[in-house]
Amino acid sequence: MDTSSSSSDKEIRKSRKNKKVATFLVDLDKLNIKIVYDDFKADGDSQFIVMDTVKAKRIKHYGRVVRKDKLEDDDDCVTHCDQCHKYYRVSCLEHPLYFVPDRQPRETVGSKQTLAVRSCPEFLTIRNSVLYQDAGKGVIAKSMIPTGTCFGPYVGVNKVTTNRDGYCWEIRSRPKNFYCDGQDENRSNWMRFINSALDETMQNLIAFQFNQQIYYRVYKPIFEGDELLVYYGERFSEELGTGMSSASCVSQRAPTKHTKQATGRDFIR
Ligand SMILES: [Zn+2]
Repeated sequence: MDTSSSSSDKEIRKSRKNKKVATFLVDLDKLNIKIVYDDFKADGDSQFIVMDTVKAKRIKHYGRVVRKDKLEDDDDCVTHCDQCHKYYRVSCLEHPLYFVPDRQPRETVGSKQTLAVRSCPEFLTIRNSVLYQDAGKGVIAKSMIPTGTCFGPYVGVNKVTTNRDGYCWEIRSRPKNFYCDGQDENRSNWMRFINSALDETMQNLIAFQFNQQIYYRVYKPIFEGDELLVYYGERFSEELGTGMSSASCVSQRAPTKHTKQATGRDFIR
């Protein structure tokens, strides 16, 4: 157990009491995200650029460590920090997650674009996959995306059964698991276009279940022109062979204890 990090968690949480505003910054040296409070002053040649400013109370639960031995198997309201090797209620405060909202699709009468396409954030684009021939569409970054950026939830139609060949995630739930199917472009969001990496080394996103929904987080920096890739596991890659299917996923479960390893071979049934 890294005790220095634990005391740091407490110190940060103590020091932010009474803070009104929190700012998410991109650290251009480390290519990750950082949170600062009221007293932050940006200067001209700062290594930080402001991503978003929110009310401090909106992130008041960030930094609450959940001990591994207290973690219930079906608790999906925690996230894992790769750097602290701990589970947090919502997110680590030192290495925070920043949830990017979908673009609000404009209700343009006569628009040929589907709801899924129109929901894509401005700094991403949906076009032909850059990695595979005949892969169909993929999602490509138009600018650098720092570690800790989080996308979601994955939007789809909730179903009790699935034929396993769609754009479908299995959601762990009680009393029964269910499926979130993004097949229909007018009842899903842009995340349905994200392709699967063929192996773990190519992935730059990790899928995880949080509060009964599926999110993808950036676990290593993504650069302009890179394709966003999540890894669905060995079994899925074998089914795809060397040619990529345009299907984003074959119904599967994202782990609640989402370490990088857990998103791979461990979570496919
Ligand atoms: Zn951390």
